[in-house]
Amino acid sequence: MQLSHRITHLTGGGSDGWDVFYRSRRMIAEGVAVTELTIGEHDIGTDQSILDAMHRSASGGHTGYAMVPGIASLRRAVAERIEAQSGVATGPENILITPGGQAALFAAHMAACNPGDRALYLDPHYATYPGTLRGAGAIPVAVPTRPEDAFLPRAEEIDARAEGAASLLINTPNNPTGTVYDRPTLEGIAEVCRRRDLWLISDEVYDTQVWEGRHLSPRALPGMAERTLVVGSMSKSHAMTGSRIGWICGPEAAIAHLVTLATHTTYGVAGFVQDAAEFALAQGPELEQRIAAPFRRRRDLATGIIAAQKAVTLIPSRGAMYLMLDIRATGLDGETFANRLLDAHRIAVMPGESFGPSAAGHVRVAMTIEDAGFAAALKCLCDFAAGLAGTG
Ligand code: PMP
Repeated sequence: MQLSHRITHLTGGGSDGWDVFYRSRRMIAEGVAVTELTIGEHDIGTDQSILDAMHRSASGGHTGYAMVPGIASLRRAVAERIEAQSGVATGPENILITPGGQAALFAAHMAACNPGDRALYLDPHYATYPGTLRGAGAIPVAVPTRPEDAFLPRAEEIDARAEGAASLLINTPNNPTGTVYDRPTLEGIAEVCRRRDLWLISDEVYDTQVWEGRHLSPRALPGMAERTLVVGSMSKSHAMTGSRIGWICGPEAAIAHLVTLATHTTYGVAGFVQDAAEFALAQGPELEQRIAAPFRRRRDLATGIIAAQKAVTLIPSRGAMYLMLDIRATGLDGETFANRLLDAHRIAVMPGESFGPSAAGHVRVAMTIEDAGFAAALKCLCDFAAGLAGTG
């Protein structure tokens, strides 16, 4: 039987740069001790108090169909958190609760794009972006960024590709680069969106992981609340990756249509997960800071290690749980470097190429193992690079 073109062509095909990841997983399955610095999963589980809240809710009977838009008290709690963080008036009617940020990204593009519309995104990018845009019927169009700009986008590069586009997807704090967009960058992006009449889809799932300055949501910029769909998630902020809980925040009319989409796709999120999320949000910034603290610590450790050598350059690390390392001094591309590092030292990192051509010659390191092991692995990576670059 023929499968739809839509599903068979969801990803671009060819080598997608995930070979190192799958190879390291195979080695681990065969009993080899690999230091895994590949994907963005915390080294702690969901806090026991959140699990207790989930258990109380499920045992108390919240196991039936929950309200499709999200339970009223959680929508209110998310709206209050967003209003407190951004200063933009936000109510429950601006919020749709989704099964994670990934479902929110898909739904936001369904709302913003007609079939065949161009949907802009920035390269390097979170791995799922082009497939998500294609799945929503749009044509993904990459806008390159450069290591010498710390991968901050240039407004004129976005503008040059904006003709006929319906949306622009951005992500700050950024996976995979660790960059946090500053106000002038966001103002430049907002100006293009207003002039070109683009929806801005703002992926803010790392909003609690900012190591310098503050997270700025572009929804707070003049004229942007009416054209911005913010994607949020409890995965990173509350170490709730497996619970699949996130949201879209946007104009009331857009959310009303997105509720209809949810009725015909996800049919909402488990009530006991929503109750647990509400409990987690009620703990306030203290819990969020406790969950982000290990990454901040490891980022500080990494800054010291990398400053002491010359073979590897760190893209300024301002947020999120990753480091982007420029390894071009070794003369290797990211994929070859990552494969050789895995062979020689049993350390698994992601080739930059996995996140798009703009990150060629880089590797992404997830700061997701305990401090001493993390520091030792990073030191080993730097020594390995120095051996190749002849700077040892
Ligand atoms: N956006 C970015 C940039 C991510 O890194 C991730 C997860 N790694 C997601 C969205 C999706 O997260 P989730 O579906 O777990 O909320």
